Amino acid sequence: MMPQSSPGAQAASAGPVGLTGARDVHYNALRHDPALSGLAMKFLPGKNVALAAALVALSSIVLSGLPGPKTRVVATIFPLFEFVRAVGGDRIEADLLVPAGADIHSWQPRFGDIKKMAGAGGLFLYLGADLEPWADDLIRNAAGPGWTVLEASRGLDLIEDADEAPQGAHGADPHVWLDFAQDQIIIDRIASALTDFSPEEAPYFRASAEAYKAKLEALDRRYREALGSCRGRRLLIGGHAAFAYLVRRYGFVQTAVTGPTPEAVPAPREMVRLVSLAKAEKITTVFFDPSSGDRLARILAAEIGARIRPLHPGHNLAVKAAVPTAFLDLMDQNLENLRHGLGCR
Ligand SMILES: [Zn+2]
Repeated sequence: MMPQSSPGAQAASAGPVGLTGARDVHYNALRHDPALSGLAMKFLPGKNVALAAALVALSSIVLSGLPGPKTRVVATIFPLFEFVRAVGGDRIEADLLVPAGADIHSWQPRFGDIKKMAGAGGLFLYLGADLEPWADDLIRNAAGPGWTVLEASRGLDLIEDADEAPQGAHGADPHVWLDFAQDQIIIDRIASALTDFSPEEAPYFRASAEAYKAKLEALDRRYREALGSCRGRRLLIGGHAAFAYLVRRYGFVQTAVTGPTPEAVPAPREMVRLVSLAKAEKITTVFFDPSSGDRLARILAAEIGARIRPLHPGHNLAVKAAVPTAFLDLMDQNLENLRHGLGCR
């Protein structure tokens, strides 16, 4: 058995949760509860069985009209958390595993996080592509039997890590949420996984999935239109190489100071190479990840006489964010900074 959740955890307030099958049992038990029949009998002297049956039937109708317990969801990272909430709305109860402010590439679950996976079960939504190397252990050791796992990136068109930084790890590039077409596939997968838990909510999940996909499509269109004709085609990133999917989709290249994970330290020789490349191409903007700082971008920008602009990889929100920003808003802010930074018409 798993330890019970602490009172502060969302799981504790969820009530009866988990698998659809388990919930069906729960409701059927209420509908056919002998105690209800007995209660009906008690208030019906003369043992009017027909009336008693009618009363039981009525109570069944009332009970079946109650909202069912919400499906529990634990999503590992911010973009997936946003996607599942967009599809599930108030029909689900979602937790974000990697907290705001944490670096998703190096974060490790602690005991308090593991407890989120206790209880009757739900949907565990993770990206895959080696972004969460701890996920297998978490599922195997911490999750109760009622958990279903959805690996969002499975079978997607992933990019191999062939980035220009020498420290780059090998394997698939995990930043696939920056491909707004592939995000729509993830949205469909989420809708179908949630429907497996709550078949009666299928129309709701389908409708909200379609609505969010339409927003992603519109976003994709705005990117295409705004970035169709730009002076520069190279994104110089004063941080880690998180934008491979974005540059592939809109016909740019990225050159980043560090590899696909933020903790890598650039070699001095690499910095020298980037400075001469940027000067040769008359690059005017160095982009930086506002969630991990602008130190390297400033150094590089000072060397080449450029300015810096934020470009958010969408990994996570800053812990200090006064107002939580939606994923789509972040992507629109990115588009504005790309437009200005690359001199697009
Ligand atoms: Zn990253």
